[in-house]
Amino acid sequence: MVEPSEIKWNELTFSLTQARSMYIATCKADESWQHGSLQPYGNISISPAAGVLNYGQGAFEGLKAYRTHDNKHVVLFRPRDNAKRMLDSCERLCMPPVPEDFFVNAVVAVVKDNIAYVPPYRPEASAQGSLYLRPLVIGSGAMLGVKPAPEYTFLVYASPVGPYFKAGFQPIKLKIDTHYHRAAPGGTGGVKSISNYAGGMYPAKEAKHEGYSEVLYLDAREDKYIEEVGAANFFCIHGNTLLTPDLNGTILPGITRRSVIQLAKEAFGMKVEERRVTLEEALKADEAFASGTAAVISPIGSITYNGKTVSFSGGQVGKMTDKIYRTLLAIQHGIEPDRYGWMYQVE
Ligand SMILES: *Cc1c(COP(=O)(O)O)cnc(C)c1O
Repeated sequence: MVEPSEIKWNELTFSLTQARSMYIATCKADESWQHGSLQPYGNISISPAAGVLNYGQGAFEGLKAYRTHDNKHVVLFRPRDNAKRMLDSCERLCMPPVPEDFFVNAVVAVVKDNIAYVPPYRPEASAQGSLYLRPLVIGSGAMLGVKPAPEYTFLVYASPVGPYFKAGFQPIKLKIDTHYHRAAPGGTGGVKSISNYAGGMYPAKEAKHEGYSEVLYLDAREDKYIEEVGAANFFCIHGNTLLTPDLNGTILPGITRRSVIQLAKEAFGMKVEERRVTLEEALKADEAFASGTAAVISPIGSITYNGKTVSFSGGQVGKMTDKIYRTLLAIQHGIEPDRYGWMYQVE
């Protein structure tokens, strides 16, 4: 644990800083989640034969607690949506479902107990910090054969974080990788299974080595349609139309994605199409960006495919991309009214 007084808020990056406490609950396979408690942040003890260690039976969530612009309140962004997605992940991975209220109450308890770790509000949008919350459900019980674990652990820990990109709101360079895929039809790409992420580390490492920020994945069946940007959802803009891959089972239903779609339709009067997006049409877009809790919005400056690079908005941040980003941040920090009922006030 790091004392809040020792934290240099302006120097935080998107990395782990140990907070004060974490929430932990356990549950047998055939029971329901009932008792949990806050404990000092620290290591947990687990059997070498635990399901999660051997067969990757586990799911995570990620959400942030922010200070409002007047530093008066601490708020969460759509925590019920994270709770619902965790329910879907639990079902897909044969884990006892964590009830929505149980999930939200645990997250709120962790925020309240670690309130001194929520970074102060900063006027410069791209320098914003937050308390990142990481709920986990894991098969913690011991067994040998491939089957659901006999016992489960639900954990929520927290870490104060700084901005995702050190350089601020700058366009990123993407590389199309046709050798690797993130998710296959019928697999677990549509839920936040921990097993989906280690496989992306090698292609991401290669891409970074070659000077790109991330990999832009294509569909595993035809190598023709856009899927996701690393672990973020993809969007592109043609005129007044916002295009994004539809949720066909291999795309993670991002909460930022859902919010961007609603804003585009209701606040900016854009036409939104959720459907298969070919690489070809994405490369002809006026603007492109990625969305996710960690970076909120990442403008895409260029996409490189087969050695050919296509730039968007002259390699600058696109106008609509900038508008969507600023509006989302303004709602999250209580600068713009919360018209859609997205914010949850913790204190
Ligand atoms: C978490 C995640 C996202 C973004 O979801 P948000 O709810 O917006 O944070 C997108 N793609 C993948 C693969 C993810 O794991």
